[in-house]
Amino acid sequence: MHVVRTIAELRVLLDEARHSGRTIGFVPTMGYLHTGHRSLLDASVRDGHATLLSIFVNPLQFAANEDLGAYPRDLDADLAMASDAGAEWVFVPEVAEMYPRPVATTVSVHGLGTWMEGSSRPTHFDGVATVVTKLFSIAGTCSAYFGEKDYQQLAIIRRMATDLSMPVNVIGCPTVREPDGLAKSSRNVYLSADERAAAPVLIRALCRGAELVRGRSTDPATVRHEMAAMIDAEPLGALDYVEIADAETLEPVDTLDGPVRIFGAVRFGRARLIDNVGEDMTIERALGARPSSADATPMRLA
Ligand code: AMP
Repeated sequence: MHVVRTIAELRVLLDEARHSGRTIGFVPTMGYLHTGHRSLLDASVRDGHATLLSIFVNPLQFAANEDLGAYPRDLDADLAMASDAGAEWVFVPEVAEMYPRPVATTVSVHGLGTWMEGSSRPTHFDGVATVVTKLFSIAGTCSAYFGEKDYQQLAIIRRMATDLSMPVNVIGCPTVREPDGLAKSSRNVYLSADERAAAPVLIRALCRGAELVRGRSTDPATVRHEMAAMIDAEPLGALDYVEIADAETLEPVDTLDGPVRIFGAVRFGRARLIDNVGEDMTIERALGARPSSADATPMRLA
């Protein structure tokens, strides 16, 4: 496994691999890897790709009041996991390698980023779209693996790759969870023991929302209200939002006509946790959820 620190070197290595007939699978991350990231590496390796992991904590996607400086890092552990998963290259650029001068060119994906994370973190998705555009430009033709854990991000990247004719096949992979249903996240390390014990209230509320949505016997406002009440009943959690959104456009819905997805964000102390489920999700599945290729149905997003 090669640890690569410059764009120029990575381009040479990937071109060599493609010339020798290999396909590239790309897993972009911010590091501090957990089994959610591992599932993306596994999917790429399983699909037969020579696999590239990138680790880059992208300053552009953090607002001034967010946790850029505190974001957890452990390069040695990350390299061990990448090697164990069978990655061929780990791209670990410094900020100065990615942004040698102030950025004058940014990428905005309109529409999909308007709500939820887009309204709570107004500059976030432009930062994500810009860095992923750079990473795709550096990686070249590849399949790129992203987690449904960040469903809105996945939708935006998929749309961006289509709109800009990027030579990248964007693949969504199911959310990997702790045994109590909490979605794996690098930010879970911020949780105190009490907050960690309380945090699964988010997935429980989302699963309750899914159950109510499946019944189609109530309206989205009532579903939102019930989910919010569950979270409000947890004193350690501060609700940011819960939302029922169209599964394709991600626009919040007023009526339950077509397929929807259910989203939530809750702050526990220093940690801001996000999660989402499809309307077929149940708490039993969330508790037993392990990624399987059968679960990894590709999203159909405009
Ligand atoms: P991050 O390092 O948090 O920016 O995440 C890098 C990639 O891993 C993104 O595509 C995330 O959606 C994905 N990811 C993060 N957590 C999980 C999880 N629990 N299950 C599956 N994928 C995840």
